[in-house]
Amino acid sequence: MKTKVKNLAHPLLTALLLSSLLSSCTSRSDKEKTKENTSIESKVDTTLKPADNKTILARREVPVLCYHQIRNNIASDSKRAHDDIIAPDKFREHIKMIADSGYHTILPDQLYDYLVYGKTLPPKPIMITFDDTDEDQFSIGASTLKKYGFKGVYFIMTVSIGRKGRINYMSAAQIKQLADEGNCIASHTYDHKNFAQFNDEDWTTQIDEPTKKLETITGKKVEYFAFPYGVYKAANLHKLKEHGFKAAFILSTPRDENFPLYTIRRIIDPGRYTAKNLYYSINKSFNKTKT
Ligand SMILES: [Zn+2]
Repeated sequence: MKTKVKNLAHPLLTALLLSSLLSSCTSRSDKEKTKENTSIESKVDTTLKPADNKTILARREVPVLCYHQIRNNIASDSKRAHDDIIAPDKFREHIKMIADSGYHTILPDQLYDYLVYGKTLPPKPIMITFDDTDEDQFSIGASTLKKYGFKGVYFIMTVSIGRKGRINYMSAAQIKQLADEGNCIASHTYDHKNFAQFNDEDWTTQIDEPTKKLETITGKKVEYFAFPYGVYKAANLHKLKEHGFKAAFILSTPRDENFPLYTIRRIIDPGRYTAKNLYYSINKSFNKTKT
């Protein structure tokens, strides 16, 4: 990401340009961006003190949904796989329910600023995430979200990029398009290795190289991570920060009290749920703590 900022005479312009180039996973439309630039001071206010873990844990949790494959079941699908498969019509119905219920999608940068700096979120915030790079997340997932002005988070497993076969995966061009359209592209390792079993070399092959690859594809920073299988090892969580991540996402297990930013909870929306089931599940799983 080389930028030609040296020709710009005005330092404020330079700062604005740099800040817009370096920000990752921002969800605002162009119209909102213009509005935001007028209030850039609050965005870059470095005097704000980051919250401690206790404060972060006490904040009301924002619901985060996790999707995998958006397709109809076939006879050879295992029972276990059913949780990861949601039929396209059902997916559309669930996203419509979320929109009709007044939810607003947010992206990881917004969630981070809320958890760490107490920044305000839109009413009824929710995050919609997709794991594992499947092409149906682009063709059905992103196009459905777009209908409602929603943005999503795509946790990419880089080994799969461009692969075609029994399952088709997103191409680099599709990932770039998602990023260009304001969605967040994030890391899900190279080939889905269990984080709890990482060795020293894996920090290069499963973490640093995929980050570099995704940053090359999108031209944006990659600062968020989702654990394959939702599984983590507490003793290694501190390393995620050292490797450039601001936050990481698990599934519906409890958060780590020493690393709440690196164990943000998500729930899977399984194919067997009705829209009503999902609505209740969101409230049951995330709305326990009041600020
Ligand atoms: Zn996965």
